[in-house]
Amino acid sequence: MSVGAITAAVICGILLLFILILVLRALFCKNKNSGSEFEKTEHRSPEAEERISAAISFPTISQVREEDVDWAQFEKFEQFLQDAYPNIHSKMVKKVISGHALTFFLPGSDPSLEPIAMLAHQDVVPVTPGTEKDWTHPPFSGENDGEFIWGRGALDMKNHLIAVMEAAESLLAVGFAPKRGLYILLGCNEEIVASEHSSAKAIAQYLQDAGVRLKCVVDEGGGVIPLKVKKIIDKTLVGIGVAEKGYLDVELSVEAKGGHSSAPPAHTALGVLSKAICRIEKHPYKAKMPSFIYDMLNIVGKDVKSFPLRLITCNMWLFRPLISYVMGKIPAAASVVRTCTAVTMCSASTAPNVLPQRARAVLNMRLMPGVSVQDAMMRLKKIIRDDRVNLKVLKANEAPPVSSAETDTYKLAAKLLGEGCSDRTVAPYIVMGATDSRYYSRVCDEIYRISPFETEVSLLLTTHGTNERLPVKSISTAIKFFRDFIQMRTAY
Ligand SMILES: [Zn+2]
Repeated sequence: MSVGAITAAVICGILLLFILILVLRALFCKNKNSGSEFEKTEHRSPEAEERISAAISFPTISQVREEDVDWAQFEKFEQFLQDAYPNIHSKMVKKVISGHALTFFLPGSDPSLEPIAMLAHQDVVPVTPGTEKDWTHPPFSGENDGEFIWGRGALDMKNHLIAVMEAAESLLAVGFAPKRGLYILLGCNEEIVASEHSSAKAIAQYLQDAGVRLKCVVDEGGGVIPLKVKKIIDKTLVGIGVAEKGYLDVELSVEAKGGHSSAPPAHTALGVLSKAICRIEKHPYKAKMPSFIYDMLNIVGKDVKSFPLRLITCNMWLFRPLISYVMGKIPAAASVVRTCTAVTMCSASTAPNVLPQRARAVLNMRLMPGVSVQDAMMRLKKIIRDDRVNLKVLKANEAPPVSSAETDTYKLAAKLLGEGCSDRTVAPYIVMGATDSRYYSRVCDEIYRISPFETEVSLLLTTHGTNERLPVKSISTAIKFFRDFIQMRTAY
């Protein structure tokens, strides 16, 4: 046998072995599970349902201009909470911050242990004017038709707020005396993006000033979503948000002399600005899969049923760059693997025959963890390469640090949400929107975004939209999650 033939045989052998490994992994890779299904709390909870309906009936609507907010509604809501939760109000220390943010604190028996914090926000987004008639039930009715509770805030997040209150109230009613302290922190303006007056920021500052460090923070985000795609996957996917994106609004502007449009220069202010916008769109961030998304796809991939697909999803170690690349090409998936930029606003001259003296555009950017506001601004300057274009930060929030999926807190939450059950897959993931929890990174390392309400994707899409509604059968299980989590995480 010639040397060439031996080399070819060795290469073929290695290749075959490699393919065999891929096939074996595709055939046998599985998430460990106990063989038993997740135990949902089947019974309904009429009192909790009533209180979620009642909470929705207060239009605690956020407004960009603080002076436009109807604070009387927040005061009525505060009174409602006081009447509905007597144990919380008599056994926990209440403090109002920033006018209407409500904080409750139950000290633990061991002051050397850092307290935990359960977050929620009281405010909701407005109903888009003109769409009220499209609602099956009026948006602030809190109508419960036996299947759903309808209304603004049903999913974001009067449901979550009330479930946390129900959990704490029921624990306190039976003499709950934890080792670790418990905070319940209810902000009042979460829906105003990057607000200078964020009540969550004020609460976090208050805690920091008081020298408080928190063991963990649990806020909204994540989800419990049944995923049924014929022959591909049939599992309930539970996402625990370990990260969220940063937020950046940038103004681009170009100043020019202006004048009559009958004697125009080669490029008007708007022309110069347009070129800058084109360059920005031509240079999107490269898709790069962060480790927590890799972990998530790795876990979910093992639950995929179809064999040819499993060759890829069970061999993420090999296909990671390819999957990142493909995800980067699909707009809905791209946001998970890269910093996104959208040109959203533009203005220039006020008349067709007047040269613009100033052209202005606004970019909205969502920054991946690890990309700072400063990095993003420097990159924009580099891409635009034109000194005539001025850049200014309008609003910014850095992406908070990523929380570990290896902590006791994460493991406890994952277990309570069904990790190890045959019908559930629990995985870490990134929250696309911003939550109040981002402000707490100054006092806490373990921040998790969890929504324990089982909800179909189509229903989740009603959040902030028309016919927002919560399945009533998801409520008891969610309350049980909060109750168990509070009880167990404060016990040691
Ligand atoms: Zn929210």
